[in-house]
Amino acid sequence: MYLFQNQFMPKEQVPISPEDRGYYFGDGIYEVFRVYNGVIFEPDGHYRRLEKSAKDTRIALPSSISELNGNLEELIRLNELTEGIVYMQITRGAAPRSHPFPKQAEPVLMAYCSPMARPLSTIEHGIRAITMDDIRWLRCDLKTLNLLPNVMAKQHALDQGADEVILHRSGTVTECSASNFMIVKEGVLHTHPANHLILHGITRDVVLKLARELSIPVQEQPFTVENVQQADEAFLTSTTQEVTPIIQVDGQTIGTGAPGAITVKLQQAFAQLIPAASPS
Ligand code: PMP
Repeated sequence: MYLFQNQFMPKEQVPISPEDRGYYFGDGIYEVFRVYNGVIFEPDGHYRRLEKSAKDTRIALPSSISELNGNLEELIRLNELTEGIVYMQITRGAAPRSHPFPKQAEPVLMAYCSPMARPLSTIEHGIRAITMDDIRWLRCDLKTLNLLPNVMAKQHALDQGADEVILHRSGTVTECSASNFMIVKEGVLHTHPANHLILHGITRDVVLKLARELSIPVQEQPFTVENVQQADEAFLTSTTQEVTPIIQVDGQTIGTGAPGAITVKLQQAFAQLIPAASPS
């Protein structure tokens, strides 16, 4: 079942117009929520970010956050989802194609659930990344539907036989195609500051909080591609990929070529936050 506005219906019946501005302009915002054991993980962070994306793009949320949360919980229940994601997007609505905000259009909300297991193999073994120019706009803090540069970046990595890209602006590392990026050097955790150049990841926040609790020093300061090549450890963070080690960058091994000690410590602390399945 899908959620459309405030109603639940089969996918085939979702009445999305070909004039939806999400389709023409990517004129919309979205969130991806993680569901563990039937429960949304870190909902408050996602709703705060959604409110910010809505405010700064001037897209009105079609319902209150508590109403929306109730609907998403019902969607999870109707789909009997235990482990997976909820994808939700809100566009500015449907109107004849014209750049100015339409006067009549009403925002259009659509959400669905998808089962997804934890990526245990990549969490354990790590992935390979390549570096690439970050050609996106200057409001990467907004979670909007305009993902063409991210899509092209990810495909570029796959075409090169890598798993992911590490994006940089003139040598300053920002993030990955759909995740935040961190390195460890001499025991210190480094990641790009949460400004307009990166998405303020919910997983990034959780991991930084865990690092502080574990007395791992954190530096939210820009660093370079060269710093990455000399790092002891590297990893990415995201709702679906959790804490995934990066063991090779541009063909060069990072650290020992295995997930580093601090990465593993953070992975273990993160796993502790995941609600365990209730005994059947
Ligand atoms: N950066 C980008 C560009 C993303 O698309 C995402 C989410 N997929 C993230 C970072 C990670 O954010 P979160 O931890 O909230 O999933």
